[in-house]
Amino acid sequence: MGKYDETIRQYLAQRGVDRLNIKAALIDMDGVLYDSMRNHTIAWKMMFDNLGLNTDRDEFYLYEGMTGRATIQLIYKRELGIDLSDEEAQEMYKIKTANFRSLPRVEAMPGAYDMLTALRDKGVERVLVTGSGQADVINRIDQEYAGLFAADRRITAADVKHGKPNPEPYIKGQQLAGVAPEQAIVIENAPLGVQAGNASGSFTIAITTGPIPRQRLVDSGAHAVFESMPQFAAELPELIDALNTTTI
Ligand code: CA
Repeated sequence: MGKYDETIRQYLAQRGVDRLNIKAALIDMDGVLYDSMRNHTIAWKMMFDNLGLNTDRDEFYLYEGMTGRATIQLIYKRELGIDLSDEEAQEMYKIKTANFRSLPRVEAMPGAYDMLTALRDKGVERVLVTGSGQADVINRIDQEYAGLFAADRRITAADVKHGKPNPEPYIKGQQLAGVAPEQAIVIENAPLGVQAGNASGSFTIAITTGPIPRQRLVDSGAHAVFESMPQFAAELPELIDALNTTTI
C-alpha cells in the first residue's frame, strides 16, 4: 500500500467515484510558479499606507487568491465603512499593480519548472488558473515556462467574475480543459485558493511556499500538502500514478 492511498480513498469516497483518471492540472501562479507573494504584500501595504488606511502586511497573505478589487473593497469597508463599486475598486487596483512593478523583479519558484515537466511527462495537461491581473508576471509565463502552458489554457482575472475562494476560477479551468472535476488536480499555495479548489470538486494539492502553516492549508480543504515545490516535483510522478490506480 502506497503512502497516498488513504488520502486518495478518502477523496474517492467524498466524491462518490471509484477511480480517477487525471488528465489536467489546474495551476495557480503567485506563490506556485513565482516567488511573488512577498512583493504583493509589500505593494498592498504601500498602497494603503499612502491612503492613510491601517493594514498589517501579513494579512495580505490571507487574502491571496481574491481579486484585487475584492481586497480593496474589503479594506475600505473595514477601515472606512465605505462600499466601493467594482468599477471604483478596479480603478484603484492600478495603484497596487504600479507599486508591484516598482519593486525588484520576482523570481520563478524553485522547483516549479520540474513540477510542470513532470506533469507533461505523465501526459497531464497544464492549465493556468490565477486571480491575478498583473500582466507583467502573466506575460513571463512564455519565457520561464516556454511551451508548458498553451495560450488557450489560461484563466486570469479577466475571465472570472468571482475570485477565490469562490470555485468559479477552477470550474472555468475544468471547462477549458474539457474535464470533469475528478479528472483534474488543483495545485495551490494559499488558504482561499485551496478552498476554491476543494469546492470545485478536484483533488486539491497545497504546497507551503510562504509563511502560511501547513495546518491552515489542511483546514482549508487540501487533500495533500507538500513542504516545498522541489519536494512536490520529485514526488509528483508517484502521486499521479497513485491517483490513477487507487480504487475504493
Ligand atoms: Ca497563490
